[in-house]
Amino acid sequence: MKAIRKFTVRAVVPEPLAALEDLAANLRWSWHEPTRRLFEHIDATLWNDVGHDPVALLGEVHQDRLSALAADESFIAWTTRERDALAAYLSEPRWFQHLEGQKPRGIAYFSPEFGIAAALPQYSGGLGILAGDHLKSASDLGVPLTGVGLFYRSGYFTQAISPDGWQLESYPLLDPDGLPLSVLRHPDGSAVHVTLALPDDRELHARVWQAAVGRVTLLLLDTDIPENEDDLRSVTDRLYGGGGEHRLLQELLLGIGGVRAVDQWVEVTGAPSPDVFHTNEGHAGFLGLERISGLIGEGLSFDEALQIVRAGTVFTTHTPVPAGIDRFDRALIERYFATDLLPGVEPADVLTLGVEPGGDANVFNMAYMGLRIGQHANGVSKLHGEVSRRMFGALWPGFDSEEVPIGSITNGVHAPTWTDPALLELAESRLGTSDTTSADWHSDAISDGELWSVKLRMREQLVDDARRRLRDSWIGQHEGGTPPVWMDELLDPNVLTIGFARRVPTYKRLTLMLQDPERLAALLTHPERPIQIIIAGKSHPADDEGKRLIQRLVQFTQDPAVRRRIVFLPDYDIGMAQLLYPGCDVWLNNPLRPLEACGTSGMKAALNGALNLSILDGWWAEYFDGENGWAIPTADAAGDDAERDRLEAAALYDLLEHRIAPLYYERDEPTGASAGWMRLVRHTLATLSPELSADRMVRDYVEHLYRPASEYAAKMADAGFRAARDLAAWKQRVVGAWPGVQVVHVESGGVAAVPYVGEELHLRAHVELAGLDPADVTVEVVYGRSRSTDELVDVRRGELTAHGDPGEGARLYTGTVPLDRAGSFGYTVRVVPRNRLLVSPAELGLQTIAS
Ligand SMILES: *Cc1c(COP(=O)(O)O)cnc(C)c1O
Repeated sequence: MKAIRKFTVRAVVPEPLAALEDLAANLRWSWHEPTRRLFEHIDATLWNDVGHDPVALLGEVHQDRLSALAADESFIAWTTRERDALAAYLSEPRWFQHLEGQKPRGIAYFSPEFGIAAALPQYSGGLGILAGDHLKSASDLGVPLTGVGLFYRSGYFTQAISPDGWQLESYPLLDPDGLPLSVLRHPDGSAVHVTLALPDDRELHARVWQAAVGRVTLLLLDTDIPENEDDLRSVTDRLYGGGGEHRLLQELLLGIGGVRAVDQWVEVTGAPSPDVFHTNEGHAGFLGLERISGLIGEGLSFDEALQIVRAGTVFTTHTPVPAGIDRFDRALIERYFATDLLPGVEPADVLTLGVEPGGDANVFNMAYMGLRIGQHANGVSKLHGEVSRRMFGALWPGFDSEEVPIGSITNGVHAPTWTDPALLELAESRLGTSDTTSADWHSDAISDGELWSVKLRMREQLVDDARRRLRDSWIGQHEGGTPPVWMDELLDPNVLTIGFARRVPTYKRLTLMLQDPERLAALLTHPERPIQIIIAGKSHPADDEGKRLIQRLVQFTQDPAVRRRIVFLPDYDIGMAQLLYPGCDVWLNNPLRPLEACGTSGMKAALNGALNLSILDGWWAEYFDGENGWAIPTADAAGDDAERDRLEAAALYDLLEHRIAPLYYERDEPTGASAGWMRLVRHTLATLSPELSADRMVRDYVEHLYRPASEYAAKMADAGFRAARDLAAWKQRVVGAWPGVQVVHVESGGVAAVPYVGEELHLRAHVELAGLDPADVTVEVVYGRSRSTDELVDVRRGELTAHGDPGEGARLYTGTVPLDRAGSFGYTVRVVPRNRLLVSPAELGLQTIAS
């Protein structure tokens, strides 16, 4: 099929209804229920047909209807009220404005994808949805954040399923004029352009779209403009489309072009220029190089500029799966940076930043560059933080993984976006709050029967939507045919409903539930306690393995014996997700532990009163408490992967059969609800909602990463970057001297040969500083219980004090260690660099331990 270029002819909105255009222009409508109700009122049928998209609605609504509304005083008043509410939302002080102390001036948040609304399909999965939720919560909290991404003409892709179950991809072209976007322009009206120098004296040009996401501006760079040569127009054609060079061009544009776009946006709008740069995964890592180049232009050296950039950069890593990390050929990187792309920056300096310690010398690794350019780094759940500290530990050789300077902030989800309006209404009418994350869900003001019937309503809504999607899919497969009647009987709102939807990389194990097809079929068709499963997910277009998994599953769902109870819905997206999570009773997740960095779909389910049934991975490892769902035991001791899958699937079937279905179908008179089930639902809503909300996440980012980054950056910038120059020189001196630093000799005394608890160990250590000043280092005793000769547990540290004058020879350090615990004891003495501008003693990866 040929790609059809589309454009939108908008209806003329009569002057009295002008407020509608203001409301449609700000994506706050995507999470603000009152605004959504207003648009729905214009034409409820059309509102559903256009997928709840106000811009499309205003584009397609009948002119007569608009004229009638323009004569309706009460409707006009309603639109004005909502517009005033939006204006107040945009200007009033919020959480961030009330925050005490030094605060970031601005945060530029870079991400290759943003999932904000179904109407703006610029995401492939969790990473993008998370970025969208981050912007929305930043807006709600008043955090001065600006999003930076690319505008993909075809988004990711649209998924259809062939009759034999194979994933088919299509790439519909988006018309930016039909989206809530506007071109960023100079005051004279000309469009802002960003330009990148390329090899062979070519140039890449991009225009910049802006989207208003509440108080936050999202800038999206777009290369599909006539100024570009034909092949370069397609740089931003689709998300994660090509490999190698195409991908590199996208990432150069995102990182380097993104910083240039932010600069221009600051110039045009007069907004404060950001002091913190956050890269959501490594794809945008080149942003640091662009900033370095700018600082070199101000007279700094590469190393000095690097100190400044590091201080203000936050890097979030999202995956322990190697395929999730971008790697480029070094030769390709060299070719692109041996141009005028970044004045002052040498290709050799760039290459050093992407070296994988101990890895292939021809590989340039974006995650390692992210860690070298970002002084403040984090994983996205506690467990993922631990995994990342081990995974990237080679950058800090010799340090225990707990000391590796990568922290964690557990992801969250934007509650107003992801909570079903029915549940919101219940909280408003019975609990008197429109904040579902702080409502008292244990309250008697809501009866079990009421909550149960709201869940039933949400299931009905899901079943309707699923049937519609499956019929549409059938029609797509059989042109001109009429769907068979059994398609109207798929699924049943009264049956225990389990959801499973996500991208389909192998580690997520889409088909684990098919390990024992007979057992699954028996659970689905149980005469008294049936279950039904609704599945969705896209496989990356280049991943045939993933497509085979989808095919196996789809073929299973085609069996007439089970097809009423298990379905695969094509084209998972935000619109589907918003009905899927609320409509489920149980949300299933069975990744290979610990490859799911966090996972957010289960969070969205929990916010809608679904109970999680998951492997203890990602966020669930942190939040499962025995009363908010079920943990599928991990078969870590299994001999091989096949055995592990078998064991974990068996545990899954057991939980469904013996624990979950019986509890669900235990019905109380007279409510018709299961009291035991409702207890878990209320507990989930009450305890998980506040923790899983993106507001909590964004507050954590502000307190633990943005604020420190802004403070370190400010210190660097003081007095004409004095601290940055000093730090660069200091690092060079310390790195140069380090091979000579030695713990020459350690003596201990003060205790008997076999000491008792309560005694103190006195230490004297002689340390050769190799010309460094005592102020440059920390000498400390590291002690704990010793399990073996080279391992300490429950490690503690105590600083030793320097004595004597500087001069030739080793220096004496002394200190004491309290022996306050009985049992085996071990200790050693180590030297690490010390500087107030380091976030961690491990930062330089230098440490000398007594031999
Ligand atoms: C939440 C969400 C995801 C991510 O789910 P995970 O559990 O993190 O895999 C992907 N796609 C859509 C449409 C979502 O809403």
